[in-house]
Amino acid sequence: MTIPVDRRSECGPSFFGWELEADRKQEWIRCLEAVLESGEWLSHGNPWVADFEDAFARWLARNCAVAVSSGSEALGLAMEVLDLPPGGEVLTSAFTFQATAAAVARAGLVPRFVDVRAHDLQMDPAAAARAVSARTVALLPVHLYGLPAPLEELDALARNLGLALVEDCAQAMGARTAVGKAGTRGTLSCFSCGPTKQLGAPGEGGIISLDDPVVAERLRALRHNGSGGGFAHEHIGRNAMMGALEAAFLLHRLRRLDAENEARRRLARHYEALLVEEPAIGLVRPRDWGDAAPSKFTVLLPDGIRDPVRVALGHLGIPTAVYYEVPLHRQGCFSNIRTASLPITDEAARRVLSLPIHPGLTDGQVERVSAALIRAVRETVNGAARPAVSLPGLR
Ligand SMILES: *Cc1c(COP(=O)(O)O)cnc(C)c1O
Repeated sequence: MTIPVDRRSECGPSFFGWELEADRKQEWIRCLEAVLESGEWLSHGNPWVADFEDAFARWLARNCAVAVSSGSEALGLAMEVLDLPPGGEVLTSAFTFQATAAAVARAGLVPRFVDVRAHDLQMDPAAAARAVSARTVALLPVHLYGLPAPLEELDALARNLGLALVEDCAQAMGARTAVGKAGTRGTLSCFSCGPTKQLGAPGEGGIISLDDPVVAERLRALRHNGSGGGFAHEHIGRNAMMGALEAAFLLHRLRRLDAENEARRRLARHYEALLVEEPAIGLVRPRDWGDAAPSKFTVLLPDGIRDPVRVALGHLGIPTAVYYEVPLHRQGCFSNIRTASLPITDEAARRVLSLPIHPGLTDGQVERVSAALIRAVRETVNGAARPAVSLPGLR
């Protein structure tokens, strides 16, 4: 559904905060100039890409990192390089972006959706344990919203059963689980550097972290049409390389990542302190905000009021988003997959609402958004001043 946001409202925040990067125009221009002056245009073997991989691996404190063209390709290549038996089942969440499970299907494997936990909407380890069958080959948890998935339990489950563990860290660069930073435990861990993620730039990108340098070299070949260099192709592969410009931008922005994530945590705590005032608003929160890298700030509204609340906020110039309105087990592209009922996922899909959160958001904006949300929820619940619900696209 498209919610109109009244942009005439002066002090409304933007959802992702990209306009703030205009203030850093000179920094971005210097990155561009450095790439041009280096004369390094070829993506394969590119020194900017290699530098970004090294810096990212150091930042994460992991042995290897392989940069690719998107988070979707990171997941796709990770599922492929594991060489799992065709038709094997991969347990994952249905409450995520389509790319998570598409990567499984593209590798000739079958996504098996399990439910999430009610309190933080992360893949439920107990549900995963119940869903294990003789065909299960891997676990693919998602660190949803930048909150840590329960990797302690999921990693133990994977180890006990000899399953591969792949982490979808696309939303969680900088989050911390009970067993270390997100992206340090999976056999392969996949990040997105798309514009909506913590380490984004104009353009697309992704990166895979892992321990095994031999597998890292294989991934580098797979992203380069299966070639280790020249025109000898050992594998089929594809073109999933990161380009020099994205790498230079990301290498530059990586230096700000920790400070930006700290700002996100502070804003999330501020939102929480204000929103607990209204018991009708539920919070999707980690045990401790210190463990999160909040890429989305998500609340749970009472069933049935989300659309009018979004419209009311839109009139005030406050953009909102829904991650995710249609969970994957209800998507047409996965309609061939048999799924048991996922009651928590279905309820979350009806009730979640994400508010603006980005490093440039001010405390005043958090206060304004929170006050507007509380007011809209109270008015909508009471039916006192139900906002117009006749806008196009509204059901
Ligand atoms: C964004 C995202 C992806 C895909 O990343 P892209 O870089 O957009 O291809 C995968 N999984 C999740 C959970 C995401 O949020």
